[in-house]
Amino acid sequence: RVHNGPSLSATGVTVAFGGFKALTDVSLTITPGAVHGLIGPNGAGKTTMVNVLTGFQAPTTGTVKLGERNIGNLAAHALRREGVARTFQAGRLFTGLDVLDNLAVTGVGLGHSRHASEVEALRILDWMEVPHLAEKPAAGLPYTDERRVGIARALMFAPAFLLLDEPAAGMSETEAADLAGLIRRVAEELGTGVLLIEHNVELVLSVTSHVYVLDAGQLIEEGNRAAITASQRVRDAYFGADQEA
Ligand code: ADP
Repeated sequence: RVHNGPSLSATGVTVAFGGFKALTDVSLTITPGAVHGLIGPNGAGKTTMVNVLTGFQAPTTGTVKLGERNIGNLAAHALRREGVARTFQAGRLFTGLDVLDNLAVTGVGLGHSRHASEVEALRILDWMEVPHLAEKPAAGLPYTDERRVGIARALMFAPAFLLLDEPAAGMSETEAADLAGLIRRVAEELGTGVLLIEHNVELVLSVTSHVYVLDAGQLIEEGNRAAITASQRVRDAYFGADQEA
C-alpha cells in the first residue's frame, strides 16, 4: 500500500506529570514517504513524544492531528486503525508462539481471517527478506531478529505512519546499517511516514531527511543532516548530558 495522504503532526504539545513537564510546547510533523529523526539525550522526552503521537499518552495541552483531524484524544488501538503504528523498545512478542503466529494474531485482531493474516504475514517477512523467521519460536530469537519481527508486526497494520522507538539499541554497526536500509525501504517503497527515535545519532543522520532534537522536554533544533551536525545547541545538549553521566 502506498500512502499519499495527510501528515501526522503535533502542535504546541506539553505533557505534565504532576509539576514536572516531560514536554514543553513541542511541535513536529511527520510527512508520508519520508524518514524523520527524533534525537536528544536521555530523559529529553523522546518516548513521551512517541506516546503522544501513538495514543498512549494524552497531551496536557496542545493538539495532535492527522491532516485536519484532531486525534489527540484517540486511544492507541483506535489510532492503529487510523494507520499510526509503533514499535516498542522491548519486543513485546508472545513468547509461546512462533513468529508467523505472532504476526497472524495481529491480522486476526484487525478482523481479517486467519488465512488472510498468515498470507499477509508471510508476504511481509518475504518483503523484509527474512522469510526463514516465520517458523522460529518468538522466545529466544536473537535480539536483531526480535527487532525485525517487531517491525513486521507493525507493518501488519499497513501503517501510514510508523514510529520506531530505539530499534537499533544493542545492534552492531553492520546490523544497524541493515536496519537503516530496511527503514529507508519502508518509507520509499511503502510510502510510510517514519519517525525514528534513536540513541545512535549517526544512524539517524544517515537515514533521515529531517531531524528533530529534544533536550529537557524542549525542541532545541530541527533540520537536515547538515543543520543538525553544525548546531552548537545540539552539541551542547549532548555534551551537557555526558558531563552529568
Ligand atoms: P527519553 O525517551 O528522551 O529518554 P522520556 O520521554 O522517557 O525521555 O522521559 C522524559 C522525562 O519524563 C524523564 O525525566 C522521565 O523520567 C519523565 N517521565 C516519563 N514518563 C513519566 C511518567 N509516566 N510519570 C512521570 N515522569 C515521567
